[in-house]
Amino acid sequence: MELNLSNIPDQTAEENQKHVKVLVLGSGPAGLSAALYAARADLEPVVLTGMELGGQVSLTFAVDNYPGFPEGISGAELVERFQKQAERFGAKIEFDSATQVDLAKRPFKVQTYASTYLADTLIIASGATARHLDIPGEKELTGRGVSYCATCDAYFFKEKNVIVVGGGDSALEESLFLARFVKSVTIIHRRDEFRAGAILQNAIKENQKIKLILNTVLTEITGNEAVSGVRMKNVVTGEESQLPVDGVFVFVGHTPNTQLFDGQLEMESGGYLVTDRLMRTSVPGVFAAGEAADPHYRQVITSAGMGAAAALRANHFLENATREEKEEVIYA
Ligand SMILES: Cc1cc2nc3c(=O)[nH]c(=O)nc-3n(C[C@H](O)[C@H](O)[C@H](O)COP(=O)(O)OP(=O)(O)OC[C@H]3O[C@@H](n4cnc5c(N)ncnc54)[C@H](O)[C@@H]3O)c2cc1C
Repeated sequence: MELNLSNIPDQTAEENQKHVKVLVLGSGPAGLSAALYAARADLEPVVLTGMELGGQVSLTFAVDNYPGFPEGISGAELVERFQKQAERFGAKIEFDSATQVDLAKRPFKVQTYASTYLADTLIIASGATARHLDIPGEKELTGRGVSYCATCDAYFFKEKNVIVVGGGDSALEESLFLARFVKSVTIIHRRDEFRAGAILQNAIKENQKIKLILNTVLTEITGNEAVSGVRMKNVVTGEESQLPVDGVFVFVGHTPNTQLFDGQLEMESGGYLVTDRLMRTSVPGVFAAGEAADPHYRQVITSAGMGAAAALRANHFLENATREEKEEVIYA
């Protein structure tokens, strides 16, 4: 694939070019775990943190499902520990973001705000962003009753009343999961029908704990220290109403942070990077891990595991580059 590099801004002086064996994009669980494994293989990895040091989990107050912390741990502390462990073995953390990449030949060229990296291997761990409602109260109460992950947080809402916002497969699947813990789930959907499949819809209708409010959007999430209720508007009648609730679960989609690789790496619909079982992307020497390549699991532990696997493969690639380049990529 021929790329035109002439439109990469010449903002970086020649002396800012850095040649690295392993460049990791992202400082979430996937990126920092990749950095730990690459550092322990003496590959002196450099991690570009991106705008969100520690990734998505750093936003949450309590992580109760990462093994090794029986009392739970805050997301920020967990990723800080990840970072320290990677640094202990020589990983270098740079507070910078990739702005453009050229994967046409090795070393891969990665432009950042401050430098240009020439990387023998690249591990993409740029994660994903849960789509938000962008209404008053949402940001302020995230982690205090507003959640984007039922697997992570359902347990905190035992015997409480929650709402789920969304109408796709994940909104309905997560509602069924939540119903195992909570007192009631009210699904708020802006249309009068669901996009999710018929089997899921039937399971929702049969579940006594789940109620539906259709043709309705949230306009505000209320509460001081924690969520106490929501304001809603019927999109057909314009009628406004309020509902007291303890939790708001938002499932209106996820966007992987992979726009940089458009046209250079194979992607699934929705923009998730395609990898094979060995975390290899469609370009030899470029690996992907965590939510950038995972529409299914979206957990700290699964992302960290993929990061470790990607670094093991990057090491293998560097030792056997010529042979690996000839190998056929086997997609799982
Ligand atoms: C509020 C909240 C609570 C959660 N709670 C839990 C929980 O309790 N348990 C659990 O298992 N999971 C939880 N999750 C899910 C978990 O956070 C994610 O599955 C995990 O963080 C994904 O890790 P990742 O490394 O793939 O990506 P992310 O965490 O999304 O990290 C992506 C990283 O890439 C960086 N980046 C992006 N673009 C660039 C670029 N151009 N250049 C360089 N870097 C870039 C970002 O700055 C960031 O550092 C929660 C998620 C949220 C939002």
